[in-house]
Amino acid sequence: MPSTHAQAPPPRLELPLTRYAWFFDFDGTLAELQARPDRVSLPAARKGLLRRLQAASGGAVAILTGRSLEDLQPLIAPLRLPCAGMHGLQLHIADRTRMAATARLPYTVLARLQDLAECHPGVLLENKGECAAALHYRQAPHHASALEAAMQALLPTCNGYELLHGKCVLELRPASASKGTALRLLMRNTPFKDRIPLCVGDDRTDEDGFAAAQALGGIGIKIGTGATQGQWRLADPSALQHWLHQQLEAATHAAAPVSATAAPPASTI
Ligand SMILES: [Mg+2]
Repeated sequence: MPSTHAQAPPPRLELPLTRYAWFFDFDGTLAELQARPDRVSLPAARKGLLRRLQAASGGAVAILTGRSLEDLQPLIAPLRLPCAGMHGLQLHIADRTRMAATARLPYTVLARLQDLAECHPGVLLENKGECAAALHYRQAPHHASALEAAMQALLPTCNGYELLHGKCVLELRPASASKGTALRLLMRNTPFKDRIPLCVGDDRTDEDGFAAAQALGGIGIKIGTGATQGQWRLADPSALQHWLHQQLEAATHAAAPVSATAAPPASTI
């Protein structure tokens, strides 16, 4: 169960960056949340940091997102990274995309979700290739309970699906996939294999990633407020950017010749 004990920012990483496998959520973690998901973008400085991390870690950087991969990839371009989309339903590695399940939402359910979006001003439907669908209500939070009740009522007609509660989003998604299963799958592949997984995320579905990372001896870093089972916490995507920059700078300096006057290292993990 999530706990709230993780309040401190992560200290400096103890081992070389090539010893870790890096897993990042996208919205609310690498990129700031916006009123509409189609207005989210990744600042150029963060793309630059991810590119540096990709090089410094030997390519062991992946994105675990609730977005579909078709939606995500233009947002991270020109970077090409292993990714899990739709909370683990899609997996893209070594230029191949695979699906964890072939489930489809009944068209009657998709039609009902479309009706709900049209009847509740400010609510947006995100249809993820008919495998999953989400209603976003960040612009109309007063509709949250009505939308949740309506989507709960649809669940019995969606065999094998569950209702996910995210930050101002409700989603019907196949229950067989999660960010945890995606992380475990990626960890079986080069270059992630035999490394320490480090998972960073801001929302409830990231808790599955934290649990999987920590079960493999790794690290979970929660972004923002809220209960979590991650061991460490950073305030927002800007704080993550700063911390990543520090890790890359420390790695660069560690690779440089040692100065006789170098300060002793701060606490590490
Ligand atoms: Mg997120």
